[in-house]
Amino acid sequence: MEVKKKDIRALTKDQLREFFTTQGDKAFRGNQVYEWLWQKSAHSFEDMTNISLETRQMLKDNFVINHIKVDQMQRSTDGTIKNAVRLHDDLIVESVLIPTATRTTACVSSQVGCSLDCKFCATARLKRMRNLNPDEIYDQVVAIDNESRLYHNRPLSNIVFMGMGEPLMNYNNVLKAIDKITSPEGLGMSPKRIVVSTSGVPKMIKKMADDDVKFKLAVSLHSAIDEVRTSIMPFNTTFPLADLREALQYWYAKTKNRITYEYVIWDGINDKQKDVDALVDFCKFAPSKVNLIEYNPIDDGQFQQADSRAIDMYVKTLEANNITVTVRRSRGKDIDAACGQLANKS
Ligand code: SAH
Repeated sequence: MEVKKKDIRALTKDQLREFFTTQGDKAFRGNQVYEWLWQKSAHSFEDMTNISLETRQMLKDNFVINHIKVDQMQRSTDGTIKNAVRLHDDLIVESVLIPTATRTTACVSSQVGCSLDCKFCATARLKRMRNLNPDEIYDQVVAIDNESRLYHNRPLSNIVFMGMGEPLMNYNNVLKAIDKITSPEGLGMSPKRIVVSTSGVPKMIKKMADDDVKFKLAVSLHSAIDEVRTSIMPFNTTFPLADLREALQYWYAKTKNRITYEYVIWDGINDKQKDVDALVDFCKFAPSKVNLIEYNPIDDGQFQQADSRAIDMYVKTLEANNITVTVRRSRGKDIDAACGQLANKS
């Protein structure tokens, strides 16, 4: 029976060094291979040209490199690119490159599908299959960095964990991926340019604060009234707003990092004065800002974006209370690449 080969990228640098010494080689060989795997994103052992043929063969006999494969790339008229990414077990996730005048942002997935059941999100209709490994998250970022250089003549500048899945339900792997992304031995990006977006898992928000993470936090709030939030984000019954609020207070006390609330205003759901008043209240306990995001319809017409009057009311009320608010336009809608549209359609 053939033994299943181990994914070489599951090894730490020290483990790789140790592997080479047990093979009677120099530990330094481990550093060279590690550099190929991470800094140079080698897809195969053949790429490792400063490693002898014999050693490459030995590595092939012992390990695999489970690199992701961009199966399909779609380009929007606004420059947005969506990748359908095939994993080693043939599951597919999507990631998106979003260019603006000054930056290129990668929107990456953290899980295959999602276990949450947000009524307005297309990914929610795919059941959660599994968590992504740290290297599968890292590879999405590398693929987008390459596309950014190729199509927009500049490296990737920002990363948002707003693709498929709930990052805080795959916390350890997301953290490991971010370590690699920010490490000089990986991509060397600043953690300040990374945003982790969560539906709000209180226990994990506190854990992040305890872990002293340096990236930014965004919370998909959509309503600051329990009853309303539960109707569109059913897990709010398990993690009600009072718990979320307490966790966010803890986060701010520890990190001094402002929180961003993502918020869509829907017709007849959260478009009244009482809704914005509740939001103002919710924003008061820790420094925060509100991103009003455009709704991207996901087929059945159950949700409609509120009209501009409702948006104006939100903006005015928030500003009158000294809360920073931005109104964000969607990108890549023509290729189903916008927030909440990732559903492996093709
Ligand atoms: N699970 C994480 C990250 C994925 S969703 C989270 O909930 O934050 C990324 C963002 O897209 C979230 O703010 C989410 O609320 C928003 N979103 C989901 N469906 C959407 C839709 N159809 N239109 C606009 N935004 C949507």
